[in-house]
Amino acid sequence: MKRLTYLEAVRFHGHTGPFLALGYKAGEYAMEKLKPQKMLNIKCSVKTIEKKPYTCIIDGIQCSTHCTVGKGNIKIEGTSDERVEITFRCKGRKVMLTLKPHILKRVLEAEDLEKEVKRLNEEPLESLFEIEEGSRRL
Ligand SMILES: [Zn+2]
Repeated sequence: MKRLTYLEAVRFHGHTGPFLALGYKAGEYAMEKLKPQKMLNIKCSVKTIEKKPYTCIIDGIQCSTHCTVGKGNIKIEGTSDERVEITFRCKGRKVMLTLKPHILKRVLEAEDLEKEVKRLNEEPLESLFEIEEGSRRL
């Protein structure tokens, strides 16, 4: 299962940006942790505000995980509060990533998007998201 590179994700999405990068990175992490054998073994649900730039995160996830709207293994749940919560499930295991509030604030205020993406790509995932892992009942 070959996933798209970040550059291919940028081509798919149309532009680079912190939310695309965050989604791509979160998906990459989940794929490494959950190692799905088949594409449809992994499922994703995203809770966030249903407007740009928040929703750009969905394209990042789709490109790095093969969880796509077309295949039905990604669901978007709109919220009214400012948050980004991504849950991946695979064969009874679960990885949940919640974007840290100060990172959300920082990326929303970023003026130079390319610079912000570069910064995000250099930071470890743990400093961007609260990460919980475990069984489905977690
Ligand atoms: Zn975008």
